[in-house]
Amino acid sequence: MSTIEIRKVTKAFGEFIAVRDADLSVAAGEVVCLLGPSGCGKTTTLRMIAGLERATSGDVVIAGQRMNDLSPQKRDIAMVFQFYALYPALTVRENIAMPLYHEKLSSSEMASRVSRVAEILHLREILERLPGQVSEGEKQRIAVARAIIRDPNCFLFDEPLSRLDVELRHSMRGQIKAVLSNLSKATVIVTHDQLEALTMADRIAIMRDGLIEQVGSPHEVFAKPDNVFVASFIGTPQMNLIEVQFKDYSSGKATVTFDQQDVVISVNPGVARLRPGKVTVGVRPRAFSVVPNGTVDAIGAMAELIEPMGAETLVHARTVTGSDIRVVVPREMKVKPGEALHLVPDPAQTHIFTDDGRAVRA
Ligand code: ATP
Repeated sequence: MSTIEIRKVTKAFGEFIAVRDADLSVAAGEVVCLLGPSGCGKTTTLRMIAGLERATSGDVVIAGQRMNDLSPQKRDIAMVFQFYALYPALTVRENIAMPLYHEKLSSSEMASRVSRVAEILHLREILERLPGQVSEGEKQRIAVARAIIRDPNCFLFDEPLSRLDVELRHSMRGQIKAVLSNLSKATVIVTHDQLEALTMADRIAIMRDGLIEQVGSPHEVFAKPDNVFVASFIGTPQMNLIEVQFKDYSSGKATVTFDQQDVVISVNPGVARLRPGKVTVGVRPRAFSVVPNGTVDAIGAMAELIEPMGAETLVHARTVTGSDIRVVVPREMKVKPGEALHLVPDPAQTHIFTDDGRAVRA
């Protein structure tokens, strides 16, 4: 069974801990993206799964077998790297068939395998060309074809699309996802591009400073971030995170002091457990309603910068005491700089984080 599991895996480079106590399991047929800012430990985690880096402690288990002491070759993993080196003097067909040369297959079996993956990745027309005669997108697909032509235990991708232009990345994301979803293999993809993770992953593991901060479906990490870091990292434009003083809770509503005035916001009942003190309120820019002046408990802000985004407009506004708020409104709502806005957050999309950054759950 194609599965990947890492248990309490740590990697130290001398004194520096690049990955700490990482736990993750990837089921057969599942695509998990490791997502996080530069230097958070994504590639190191992937390299420990591949056997290119030795775990300092913890277990790397592939297809049910502990692999810590096995070389990359013995782990039977197919990898696709950011820099997919194709052999320039070999045709596309020969490049794709390369991993099969050790398998002593008959030439007809080899030809039929190449033809099957070429079909899946739409490469049939270019099989006889050299790598210098194909586009970047085609090169990327050749690298994927070469990875899937064998029947490995699992797939690992390291920033597979980062060299492609925006247009191509967009179409390749869907194509690779479609190919992977038919292969029933455990797959781990490293990316720092959240759109890539949100569109390709069944689950996303979000990393920061060597720690896995949250693992969940794209919807979960977006709609239910476990902490302020995940909340701020996932979603564009970024979630508004506003520090306020929590005063009290009653019947689904919290009174908080914001901009030196008391505002009542609808919150989940878990907030009842909080003591008065500093909390962070998180509201995504699309989760505000713009309401008429005089609406009870509306937050007042002055529009400053207007950024058209096609069907929507991003408004950067400033509250009385100078807090920045990002609000996305429909394009038809013609907001002008200097205009006063009155905003009410959607209760279902209002997140409360404790002083140490953890989400308050119901
Ligand atoms: P990026 O998105 O920039 O590739 P990443 O999340 O993949 O980043 P890693 O490459 O895993 O990050 O690196 C994690 C941390 O470990 C970084 O601070 C990096 O400098 C450090 N590191 C990686 N390899 C080594 C090494 N061989 N020796 C010392 N430190 C290393």
